[in-house]
Amino acid sequence: MTNWKVPLADIDLGEEEIQAVNTVLRSRWLSMGPVTAEFERCFAEYLGVRYAFAVTNCTVALHLAHLALGAGPGDTVLCPSLTFVATANAICYTGATPVFVDITGTEDFNLSPEDIEARIDASTRGICVMHYGGYPCDMERIMQIARRHDLYVVEDAAHAPGAACWMPLQSGKEKEPAERVLQKCGTIGDIGCFSFFANKNMTTAEGGMITTNNPELAERIQRLRSHGMTSLTWDREQGHGFSYDVVALGYNYRLDELRAALGLVQLGKLPALTQRRVEITLAYREKLDGLPGLSLPFRHLPHLAAYHIFPILLDRDLDRHAFMQFMKAQGIQTSIHYPPIHRFTHYAAMGYGGERLPHTEDIADRVVTLPLYPQMGRSQVDYVAAAVTEWIVTNTSSAS
Ligand SMILES: *Cc1c(COP(=O)(O)O)cnc(C)c1O
Repeated sequence: MTNWKVPLADIDLGEEEIQAVNTVLRSRWLSMGPVTAEFERCFAEYLGVRYAFAVTNCTVALHLAHLALGAGPGDTVLCPSLTFVATANAICYTGATPVFVDITGTEDFNLSPEDIEARIDASTRGICVMHYGGYPCDMERIMQIARRHDLYVVEDAAHAPGAACWMPLQSGKEKEPAERVLQKCGTIGDIGCFSFFANKNMTTAEGGMITTNNPELAERIQRLRSHGMTSLTWDREQGHGFSYDVVALGYNYRLDELRAALGLVQLGKLPALTQRRVEITLAYREKLDGLPGLSLPFRHLPHLAAYHIFPILLDRDLDRHAFMQFMKAQGIQTSIHYPPIHRFTHYAAMGYGGERLPHTEDIADRVVTLPLYPQMGRSQVDYVAAAVTEWIVTNTSSAS
């Protein structure tokens, strides 16, 4: 492992997490128990959603989401190409086909509502949005489009635990200007999916959560998560508690008690950790805003973000590879979110690659993610910003 002066991301793990895991080990009850139930209850309460089910990771959460909503062969599901590959893979797992939608532009890397609408046809079954960097998508318009075309909406909220969107309060009275409320990401579409992988805003090592307000979807999700078996409580209600039935082709996508214990501690820390992410983002913007040669996206979104990553956009004539090399030489780790899915070998072999995604193509070759994690100090932000500034000043003065 390279010894970075400033890594891209870091975990906030302490004695509390170690104690929580030890307590579970001493209890000798390791899976599907009270700690997982408590983690689900607390996560649902935090989001303000009726149902939350802990799962093995966000990839399987996405798989269950599309399955529960009935996607299958012959269906297409709209999703971004500028996202982690799991967003599209999960659609493929069901036999449905992803159709890539362009992003809004250089200010907002989230799905463009106009382009969503333009790509809807008779085969379209649903939309999977991804709240890039924890910055909420335009959910009001996306939900309007989905309702108009009778499409389901899955939110890939892997970056966005705690982020929230201003949404009109459903009053039932169409004509009156709706009162607006902040609604958390992952509770607006039919189903929300979260990741607790090690580099996310909160972590259980591997882990995820799937959320919904719909009781029928909740029942389907719960069954599919555990082999399609009828639940024990249901069995007891029916008076045949000694056996069970299998009512669907299910999976083992459960989370264990050790990870749930980690998740409970991390969830408790999440508001404070997000506040640090806000402060670091603002400190970066103060230092980098207005520099020639780069621009900063997501400056003007009205919603409440989760500040998962800090992407910058280099001007077209600058050499991203050289920039990342320079940062590495300073001990600063950078990354790219994301190489677009439609360009990957596997997807190209499936026939993708020829789509018109001009905004995705435009930023794909010049976006760079700078380090961002809660324990990052002011001096580290200053160090990274100074390195960026030095490289930019050197490389723009000769060009112009
Ligand atoms: C991390 C991530 C996933 C996958 O999450 P896992 O928990 O690692 O399966 C899916 N979508 C996005 C946008 C992600 O960043």
